[in-house]
Amino acid sequence: MTERLSGHTLLISLIATPIRHSLSPKMHNEAFAKLGLDYAYLAFEVGNQELADAVKGIRALGIRGSNVSMPNKQAILPLLDELSPAAQLVGAVNTVVNQDGKGHLVGHITDGTGAMRALKEEGVSVKDQIITMTGGGGAGTAIAIQAALDGVKELRIFNIKDPSYANAQETVDKINQHTDCLATLTDLADQEAFKKSIAESSIYIDGTGVGMKPLENLSLINDPEMIRPDLVVFDVVYSPRETKLLKFAKEHGAKKAINGLGMMLYQGAEAFKLFTGEEMPVDYIKAVLFDEE
Ligand code: NAD
Repeated sequence: MTERLSGHTLLISLIATPIRHSLSPKMHNEAFAKLGLDYAYLAFEVGNQELADAVKGIRALGIRGSNVSMPNKQAILPLLDELSPAAQLVGAVNTVVNQDGKGHLVGHITDGTGAMRALKEEGVSVKDQIITMTGGGGAGTAIAIQAALDGVKELRIFNIKDPSYANAQETVDKINQHTDCLATLTDLADQEAFKKSIAESSIYIDGTGVGMKPLENLSLINDPEMIRPDLVVFDVVYSPRETKLLKFAKEHGAKKAINGLGMMLYQGAEAFKLFTGEEMPVDYIKAVLFDEE
C-alpha cells in the first residue's frame, strides 16, 4: 500500500461509529490496488456530534467522497448540497461524492441498488413482481424504495408495532405517491395476512436483522407451507451466512435462498463507481473478502 500512496493520492472516507469492524476499507483499498487507482480509503470514528465538522473537513481537504453509516445516514442530509432522487425519497445517504473535488457534496444511497443488483446476479428480476417484505427500518426502507423505482408491481411491507412502524408507513406513502408500485403496510401480528401475502408473492425479503445476533435462533417464517420452490427468499443478514430463515427455506425446497453478502458487496461496488467512475472488480473482491472466512 505505501508503494502506491503519493502526494496525488485521493482520499475516500467512511464516517460512522462504531466503525472499526467495517469491511469497507478492505473492500475499497483492495479494489483500488487491483485497478491501480491512486485512491486510499480510511475509516473515521464520527458520530452526530462530530458530523458537521467532519463534513466541513471533507470540503476543506478535498476528500473525494465518503461512505456514511450509522448514526449519520439521516443526520447528514441537511449538510449536503444535493441529493440523488433515491436518497431524497429514502431520506438517508450512505455515499457522498465531492463533485469534481470542489466542495459540492452530492448524497446517494446505494443500499437499495446494491440489494437489487444482488438479486439480479442471482437471476431474480423484480420488475412486475409482487414482493412481501418484513422490516421497514433503515435497510428495509432503502430496499423498498429502490424496488418500487425498479418497477415492482406490489410491495407489501409487514412490520411489528414498534417505532419503525411509522417509518414504514411513511415509506409506503412515498412509494404510492411517487412511483407506479402499489405499496401496503400490515402489522406482522396479522399472521394470516402475512401467510396469504407470501403465497401471492414471488419474492420474500426479510429486512429486519432477525436471524443475526442476538436473534440468531429466530426466523419470521416457521411454517413449511409458506415456502415454495419458486419463492425467492432474500435475507439482508450476512453474518451468519445462513440464518435460520435461509436454512428453513432451503430445507423446505426454496431454490433461491439468498443472504445479505451480495447486497453488502454491491452497495460498495455502486459507491465505488460513484467515487471513481470505474467498475469494482467484484469477483476479485468477493474472493478477497469472503473466501478467507
Ligand atoms: P433498523 O433498526 O432500522 O430496522 C429494523 C427493522 O426490523 C424494523 O423494521 C423493526 O421493526 C424490525 N424488527 C426488529 N426486531 C424484530 C423482531 N423481533 N421481529 C420482527 N421485526 C423486527 O435496522 P436496519 O439498519 O434496517 O438493519 C436491519 C438489518 O439489516 C441488520 O441486520 C443489518 O445488519 C442489516 N443490513 C444489511 C446490509 C447489507 O448490506 N447486507 C445493509 C444494511 C443493513
